[in-house]
Amino acid sequence: MAKRYELPALPYAYNALEPYLSEQMLKLHHDKHHLAYVNGANAALDKLEKARTGEMQMDLRATLRDLSFNYGGHFLHSLFWMNMAHAKGVGGMPSGSLEDKINSDFGSFEKFKQQFSDAAKTVEGSGWGVLQYDRLTDQLLMAQVEKHSLLHLVNMPVLLCIDVWEHAYYLQYQNDRAKFVDAWWNIVNWDDVAKRLESSMK
Ligand code: MN
Repeated sequence: MAKRYELPALPYAYNALEPYLSEQMLKLHHDKHHLAYVNGANAALDKLEKARTGEMQMDLRATLRDLSFNYGGHFLHSLFWMNMAHAKGVGGMPSGSLEDKINSDFGSFEKFKQQFSDAAKTVEGSGWGVLQYDRLTDQLLMAQVEKHSLLHLVNMPVLLCIDVWEHAYYLQYQNDRAKFVDAWWNIVNWDDVAKRLESSMK
């Protein structure tokens, strides 16, 4: 039997991102929502294995859809947790080669922030704002991922993502997704984003 996906522990306490993300919201988001995607992805793996051995029948299209959806949820949530840190420990701005790359690709950090915010705020339905690195053209590109995997730029490493499913903000911000996105900038862990860019460019 192949390995299974595992829920990673948060790299900080549940209350570490307050006041921008409440303890209750972060706990539910990680312990319930993220776990559900891990379980969903593993259930799809179980089905595929059991179908191969003849232990059970499955609807292949539905199972592969479940795998893509739940694996996408697991992957993006795992990255989302790493992309954030307590506001006291992180600055509001990237620095070094990440800052240089953003300036050269977007003109300025403010222009980047504006476009990324717009992308996140206007994702249709449930999804993610995502920043990816395109090796072929050596530039940063954005995607408005719907659900957890649709409209994702294939095989471009993800550097930064923000979850804009309602479960990511409703408890604290109600229906005001824009307010949540604006607040989220205070807890972006730019060191983590810079490391991802560095390894992507190798
Ligand atoms: Mn989520």
